[in-house]
Amino acid sequence: MGTTSLAMISAVKSVLHSFCLESGMKINLEKSKLIFSTNTSINHCQQTCLAFKIQETDNLEKKLAFPIALSPRKEKDFTFVVDKDLRQSIQGLPISLNQDIPDAIIWGLSHDGQLNTKSAYLLHFDHQISPEDSWDWLWKCLTLPCICYFTWLCHKERLPTTSLLAQRGLLIAPHCLRCPSELKTVDHILWSCPTTHSFWQHMQIPPSKLGTLTAPIKDWLSYNIASSQASYLHIPWGVLFTFAIWHLWKNKNSQVFSTKALQSSLVDFTIQATVEYYASQAKPPRKPHLTIQVYWEAPPDGYYKLNFDGCSKGNSGIARARGLIRDSLGRWVRGFYMNLGRTTSPIAELKALRQGLIMVKECGISNLIVDIDAKLILSWVWGNSSNTVLTNLIDDCKGLYRHFDAIIPKHTYREANKCADHLANLRANQPNFLVTFPLSPPSIR
Ligand SMILES: [Zn+2]
Repeated sequence: MGTTSLAMISAVKSVLHSFCLESGMKINLEKSKLIFSTNTSINHCQQTCLAFKIQETDNLEKKLAFPIALSPRKEKDFTFVVDKDLRQSIQGLPISLNQDIPDAIIWGLSHDGQLNTKSAYLLHFDHQISPEDSWDWLWKCLTLPCICYFTWLCHKERLPTTSLLAQRGLLIAPHCLRCPSELKTVDHILWSCPTTHSFWQHMQIPPSKLGTLTAPIKDWLSYNIASSQASYLHIPWGVLFTFAIWHLWKNKNSQVFSTKALQSSLVDFTIQATVEYYASQAKPPRKPHLTIQVYWEAPPDGYYKLNFDGCSKGNSGIARARGLIRDSLGRWVRGFYMNLGRTTSPIAELKALRQGLIMVKECGISNLIVDIDAKLILSWVWGNSSNTVLTNLIDDCKGLYRHFDAIIPKHTYREANKCADHLANLRANQPNFLVTFPLSPPSIR
């Protein structure tokens, strides 16, 4: 309240009195404290405390978790409000420049803002699927989708064998027709039944996989399916194996339903089906390698060029944007570097383009060529592709490029963008949100 004087004290008391009258509230003098600057004399302090009937303190501490301080507040005083990760995530949000745009609800776990089952499934598992729960070895294996599903049923012990159907209450004999003492389970059907022995013998099982015949059924399936060891006609054993168990199952079924004996040519039939499938999956020969000379090209007379780049570490990590403008003689006009907080690469790219366009507009440039290395950015900003998450940024960019007389987007290779990359290295450890470079940094000249 400035210099302490009796007049000042009575003025403050009168203000507090009026406040209590108007608000109907009371000031608790016991809970109130007075703080004095260090150069106040002890006499003055004592007089003031007596006049207010309030005790002195040297630290006002916190009120509702906010620190109360006499000195101007610093950003770090409020770091307790939100943690660093959360602040970076807020900083990374794709917020529009146009403040009239209402907030919208988007599904933040997908790239396009739309709900999809994969991201919801991952959310359920807290984004972590343990290797034991991962079924990639099965769903990504090279075979027919129906065989993948069949194998999954085997693994989950849900294949409708007579043993399982009997367990579920169907009036059906649960035993193998050939081996009356054995239940007709998945492992019995696929390998322990003597009728399958000759089949497996003829399938040319790689010696390293022979031992797995005694492993539990689940391990037996996964060990063999994962095998890339060459077998018949150099086809990976894993592929042949999936067709083998599938045809064995189908053959056993046809035996039950049409009482046929185990097909004598089952081995040939299985190999033929595998070869046919494997050949259909063969990749076309690679195109010959082309060497392209990549270099930065100066814009024509009267034009300026914007190079920009946005990147994020990992899928949604710490992101940065940078860009620079040069004229038709390749001279530096202006550059920038931005810390974007925590966000995805597409958002970082669009924020880099938006900041670049703002900078071009500020420089009063009307004819511009924009070098773009990400084709997606081209299709979003100059084409008709849409993306709910990125709408704000896309619309901002579209709004900005309408300010120029001529703006030409040009696809370029990332390697032609070395200068913008260099800006990122210069400022990688600076916490500043936006840094501009009116002159080219010495290390670029
Ligand atoms: Zn049997």
